[in-house]
Amino acid sequence: MRIFDPHIHMTSRTTDDYQRMHAAGVRAVVEPAFWLGQPRTNVGSFLDYFDALLGWEPYRAAQYGIRHHCALALNPKEANDPRCAGVLAELPRYLLKDSVVAVGEVGYDSMTAEEERAFEAQLAMAQENDLPVLVHTPHRDKVTGTRRTLDVVRAAGTAPERVLVDHLNELTVGMVADSGCWMGFSIYPDTKMDPDRMVAVLKEHGTARMLVNSAADWGRSDPLKTREVADVMLAAGFGEDDVEQVLWRNPVAFYGQSGRLDLEAVPADPDYAGNTIKRG
Ligand SMILES: [Zn+2]
Repeated sequence: MRIFDPHIHMTSRTTDDYQRMHAAGVRAVVEPAFWLGQPRTNVGSFLDYFDALLGWEPYRAAQYGIRHHCALALNPKEANDPRCAGVLAELPRYLLKDSVVAVGEVGYDSMTAEEERAFEAQLAMAQENDLPVLVHTPHRDKVTGTRRTLDVVRAAGTAPERVLVDHLNELTVGMVADSGCWMGFSIYPDTKMDPDRMVAVLKEHGTARMLVNSAADWGRSDPLKTREVADVMLAAGFGEDDVEQVLWRNPVAFYGQSGRLDLEAVPADPDYAGNTIKRG
């Protein structure tokens, strides 16, 4: 079984996680730019982070047989901080880089006017750079937030097949299915979707345009949740081909719209336990 995790924050995870993910079948990931917990106080802090997503993480992932790509953006939460606004002027030159396969994550957190301006500006940048967009939906008041998200996407004139609306649940999946956008689900240990609920959604709505991710980050989360969903799908009567569609072909089709996905297998370093990555 091969797995593509379309949304995971490896910068917050250890090298042991890469090793466990590879053993579970993960061969490719997309890491969207997000909030680090500690607020950033200047634009340079974002640029060092973007450089790490373009350089250090793909290098680290490759040691463990995993292809790493990223999505770059000013995240919704920090769009509210005037100290971070200058990131939008720096972003266009970063969107030209080879391993950037989308703009993201963008969207709403608290649904402020500042968030909406950053969201609209970045939808425009995605169109200018011919990149798909990964859109985060708010954790509070998700139905209203998702509805407004779809309105903003429509008003921006972004083609729905170029948009992945993420962190969906049973209450928001229907409206996104109707919109023609791709549907993302984050499987967390105790909040949002769990594997059984996810499989129930797949039974009801089918496997087309559906993506499943671990969204693993610095919070309580688990980078092996993608594999768990695959196993629960098989146990529930889905075939190997359905699993391959949801956990590999759908993310490949979505991010492949960037023209920049490189999925040639990278052989895992046989010296896993050794110091293949020097700590300097
Ligand atoms: Zn995220």
